Amino acid sequence: NNGDERAARIPRYARINTCLWTTEEAIRHYQERGFKLGDPFSSDKAFARDEHIPDLLVFHPQRQFHDDICYTTGKVILQDKASCFPATVLAPPAKDDTVVIDATAAPGNKTSHLSALMANKGKLYAFERDQKRYRTLKTMLNKAGCKNVDAVNVDFLTVNPSDPMYGRVTHILLDPSCSGSGIVNRLDHLLEAEDDDTEGLENRLNKLASFQLMMIKHAMKFPAVQKIAYSTCSIHAIENEQVVSQALSSEEAIQAGFKLAPRAQTLPTWHRRGKREDMDCEDNAESLIRCSPGEDATNGFFVSCFVKTQITQCTEE
Ligand code: SAM
Repeated sequence: NNGDERAARIPRYARINTCLWTTEEAIRHYQERGFKLGDPFSSDKAFARDEHIPDLLVFHPQRQFHDDICYTTGKVILQDKASCFPATVLAPPAKDDTVVIDATAAPGNKTSHLSALMANKGKLYAFERDQKRYRTLKTMLNKAGCKNVDAVNVDFLTVNPSDPMYGRVTHILLDPSCSGSGIVNRLDHLLEAEDDDTEGLENRLNKLASFQLMMIKHAMKFPAVQKIAYSTCSIHAIENEQVVSQALSSEEAIQAGFKLAPRAQTLPTWHRRGKREDMDCEDNAESLIRCSPGEDATNGFFVSCFVKTQITQCTEE
């Protein structure tokens, strides 16, 4: 079917977990086992460095990793290229005093990516409300050697932004539940079944969009937050550009002074940007990142980044 064809055009992406080794070491490792740098579609023994994500290697779509020792020991994390964009855009500094929240963390691909970008320093709070998925998250973080992460089984919306514990949080990654309509290489049949019922789909998208907006507005309340990356694996503007537009005009954004980070700070060399027709302010579309399933050798994906533009007044004497 259409989904299978599109999936066949998506290479196997392997993010090198720099908490455990370096990309140079990984490249040497695969070369010593007969792999050659080159076009990953040319042979199942060819691989390449990704041009946008520094620690991402690109393999042939049929390349299997389940017996690869680097995968089983957490040195390689199988993660679609588009799903590496949010942590890359958030770019938390690798410093001892950096404090970050991953608000919706399981299974933990983006959490471990953030941890690696932070060079395993500072503090990364990883929240997950579902107990079973939280356990998966813990296992994943343990395997990946992420030592700066504090994983908490909690609903992000119940986390108090005024709690002194989170008083120094400057970066928040928000990758909440979404329709998943951009995912072409798994559960395709389930998504299509839901799409058959137009009214049902519309209702579901509206509910998801209200929840996503609530999550962004909650993230904006953390007093020291400077940057919030909001992402979905949805292709629907209602969960993407429209949620971002509403978030920008919310009281929370105006009060805290949030705007969208300009294109120069959001993977400027990535060609596909937001949908102008779905933004209140069309120029803002340039700040947004989209990935189109089937056209970009990735799953469908959306990334935005809010940045605080004014220093808020300190009320303490
Ligand atoms: N960022 C993850 C990754 O890359 O591996 C994927 C996140 S998945 C799209 C969304 C997750 O958020 C789910 O595990 C869901 O249970 C969790 N979630 C949804 N609402 C939440 C909330 N209010 N607080 C905490 N976690 C939530």
